[in-house]
Amino acid sequence: MKLSEHFVLEEFVRSSTADKLGICNEAPEYVAINLQVLCQMVLEPLRRMAEKPLHINSGYRCSALNMAVGGAKNSNHLFGFAADVRCESWEECKEWQWLVCTYCDFDECICEKHGKSIWLHVAYRNNMPQRYRAFCIEK
Ligand SMILES: [Zn+2]
Repeated sequence: MKLSEHFVLEEFVRSSTADKLGICNEAPEYVAINLQVLCQMVLEPLRRMAEKPLHINSGYRCSALNMAVGGAKNSNHLFGFAADVRCESWEECKEWQWLVCTYCDFDECICEKHGKSIWLHVAYRNNMPQRYRAFCIEK
């Protein structure tokens, strides 16, 4: 199912952890709608500005999957409000954070580095107030 010009629902629900643990991570319709809005508000503009395809590491997480990956209790991922976009370098991550913070409406925009994996967590809360949380987490 197509969510926007460059993104399909499958990218946001696939999860190797879910496969491994036999967790069904299918998105309910309201989640698909929230993801569609996230694409319109943040991911499509970011893709245009980054001038390259974006790889989604993690999008929607049902509560079982969110627990399995150690996600925050009220994570935006639970509602289809958030996506983790893979970055090639910390510099790229910071650059994309700046682009989103400068040109998009957003709820969260967080650079995350865990060992060698680097990603930008972006969120937009459909029909809710945005909190404009932007920071970096290095572990
Ligand atoms: Zn995230």
